[in-house]
Amino acid sequence: MGIDTKKHYTKAVLENLILDTFKNDMLIDPEHASDEAYYEALCRVTRGILSEKYKFFDAHNNARARKKVYYMSMEFLMGRSLKNSLYNLGIQDAMTAALDSLGVDIERMYALEPDAGLGNGGLGRLAACYLDAMATNELPAMGYSILYEYGIFKQRIIDGWQTETPDYWLPGGSVWLKVKPDRTVPVKFGGRIEEGWSGGHHWVNHVEYQTVYAVPHDMYVPGFDSEGVAVLRLWKAKSPGFDMEAFNRGDYVNSVGAASAAEAISKVLYPNDNHAEGKMLRLKQQYFLTAASISDIVRRHLALYGTLDNFGEKNAVQINDTHPTLAIPELMRVLLDDCGYGWDQAWRIVTDTFAYTNHTVMAEALEKWNEDIFRNLLPRIYMIVQEIDRRFCELLRETYHYDQYDIDRMRVIYDYQVRMANLAVIASHCVNGVSKLHSQIIKDSVFHDYYKLTPDKFKNVTNGIASRRWLYQSNPGLTKLLFDTIGDSWLHDMSHLGRFERFASDKQALERLAAVKKENKQRLAKYVLDASGVTLNTDSIFDVQVKRLHEYKRQHLNALHILTEYLWLKDNPNAPFVPKTYIFGAKAAPGYFLAKQIIKFICTLRDMIEGDAAVRDKLRIVFLENYSVTISELLMPASEISEQISLAGTEASGTGNMKLMLNGAITLGTLDGANIEIGEHAGSENILIFGMTTEEVDALRAAGYHPSDFIRDNYLRRALDMLSAGICNQQFPDIANSLRFNDPYMVLADFISYRDIQKKASELYTRSEGWQRMSLHNIAASGYFCADRSINDYSHYIWNL
Ligand SMILES: *Cc1c(COP(=O)(O)O)cnc(C)c1O
Repeated sequence: MGIDTKKHYTKAVLENLILDTFKNDMLIDPEHASDEAYYEALCRVTRGILSEKYKFFDAHNNARARKKVYYMSMEFLMGRSLKNSLYNLGIQDAMTAALDSLGVDIERMYALEPDAGLGNGGLGRLAACYLDAMATNELPAMGYSILYEYGIFKQRIIDGWQTETPDYWLPGGSVWLKVKPDRTVPVKFGGRIEEGWSGGHHWVNHVEYQTVYAVPHDMYVPGFDSEGVAVLRLWKAKSPGFDMEAFNRGDYVNSVGAASAAEAISKVLYPNDNHAEGKMLRLKQQYFLTAASISDIVRRHLALYGTLDNFGEKNAVQINDTHPTLAIPELMRVLLDDCGYGWDQAWRIVTDTFAYTNHTVMAEALEKWNEDIFRNLLPRIYMIVQEIDRRFCELLRETYHYDQYDIDRMRVIYDYQVRMANLAVIASHCVNGVSKLHSQIIKDSVFHDYYKLTPDKFKNVTNGIASRRWLYQSNPGLTKLLFDTIGDSWLHDMSHLGRFERFASDKQALERLAAVKKENKQRLAKYVLDASGVTLNTDSIFDVQVKRLHEYKRQHLNALHILTEYLWLKDNPNAPFVPKTYIFGAKAAPGYFLAKQIIKFICTLRDMIEGDAAVRDKLRIVFLENYSVTISELLMPASEISEQISLAGTEASGTGNMKLMLNGAITLGTLDGANIEIGEHAGSENILIFGMTTEEVDALRAAGYHPSDFIRDNYLRRALDMLSAGICNQQFPDIANSLRFNDPYMVLADFISYRDIQKKASELYTRSEGWQRMSLHNIAASGYFCADRSINDYSHYIWNL
């Protein structure tokens, strides 16, 4: 089909392309070019190759009238693109050599790229992993999101407290973006609706609205060794210059001022994870994304087919959590108002098109918009949502004979709120959870009412990760060991990692595995030394908890346990103890005060231990600043214990757990999210499970949970007392009181079980061969958690490709 990039782009060809880019595009003499200039030239060359490749792929798909897949998400946590692009195109060696002969070190080039941090955490990274997998599986796929000028904030820890600075990523990041001004789309906000009947037809007219332009910027994501290229289309808000209507009314100042208000829409990513912030600007962002994207999808479909009658057969739109749910009433609006469809036919097209992925069962994350704000900002969309709500209530009442109490629970608009999850469930042909357990919980609780009504609508697709990014590109030592033992077919089919199982009793392979881990720990230790001046003990266990900071993820359970270990070591200075390095990385939402106090608690504990010469070589805490995709790529290969300790029933899936498993870390975790499936695949002897099950959590809550009943252990009591009284003169009354009197995530109920499994982990670690064997079983079983498999599941069970 297209060009075979691996064959065509040799060292000589690439070297010439770089030199041509300097001469013709950048007007720079390569002899005197800076590293930054080389970085730009290199990225331009790579982007050019990607854009050519995409043209072939797109034409091929259009000629075959293939169904298109759209992944709509307010977040894409892309990380860096250069290395990934070169590896997936198969030209990393040729490019390394080309740069080498120009006197440039490619590692230095990689390091210059800022992360595209257009997401908060797991949900945004999942979207990015899925683009990689969709391209690899050669699906005609596009992602849609917003071109935030500021991505997720940069975290600095000052005196133990998190401070946020803006992430202005575009200077180094924009080389990956191709602007498509001719695809600009107007999006209308506010105003009012005039409607009436003429000649038997209902007409609506939207007047006095404000227009914001959505300008697309495309990023290309190549598949691994494949013809596929996915496009991520990011919308940037642009004001029409000034507000003509306001100007005509004589309101000159506001006519110009409207410009900055309009462009504020794509200014900054909301930094909340698993927490809805009901702000009008966020609602504007959501409509901006969905209206621009629907317009773009409809335009593309009409250009190919000339009708929308077959829209639902030719397009699948996956909604990543409820954030892009407005795409549903927006497509209804286009079909009804712009294209003249009747309600029933429009509704059939819409339900055929959309599928919704739920990502959380926590109440504070379920989006509900104030009805007045919604109506004022989106008057026509509001009318359509009202009609969806009215018809759904009528269906429940007339056809299913539900009583008003049940209807009120299930309807979209109730108690002056527009409930986005209800709308997404009602209008989608499929609703999926992201792990087996989570998908079951959805059916049993959050969406139980709808499950009773339409059981077949509910499915599971367990999350997956871009395995090649975290193994092939990030762990060269393990990659080499795998090549030497089982070959390289796993790069195309991660289930082939299962062949590594045959080496579970091969002493030499196990020793090599240990050596690879040691080397990766030393690499991380060098980074920590350079960043913070602390020398890590690379013979200690590297125990890692990296993820957003949230009470449900229970970083404070981990920290509290470390404090009890410290107290025990003070009491037993000469007792045998397996040295441990606890590594944390976590951003807290800027407005989540308790989460910030937990960071301060971890850092205070770190400083206390570091100041104690008798303890610090046995026990150490490292807090990695600004946890990001790039830091995770360095960290995962060096990890030995993967802390996945959320309260059972709260973590929908987790994907950090998968990255760590792939790199041979042993999961120490609860029976929550995808941990359960990790245990099923790796074998129960190769995972360290502790804590209550979901059923036990429910039972304890029903019986009445009193955290103080669980303060039976003397060290736990002393640790809690220290939180209140002060560690190094720093008191943590909010954390202590929350744990003693409320403990919403049952830290104390799981504490003893957690302590015991930590102890068991240390014992197992002393038997090196057994530990390496556990590690090997995890690597061999991690193929299932590749995003390629997840995308196959979506293709077969949801998108009907
Ligand atoms: C994978 C990843 C996450 C998700 O981690 P969980 O442990 O699944 O919550 C968050 N942030 C970054 C930067 C990641 O790479």
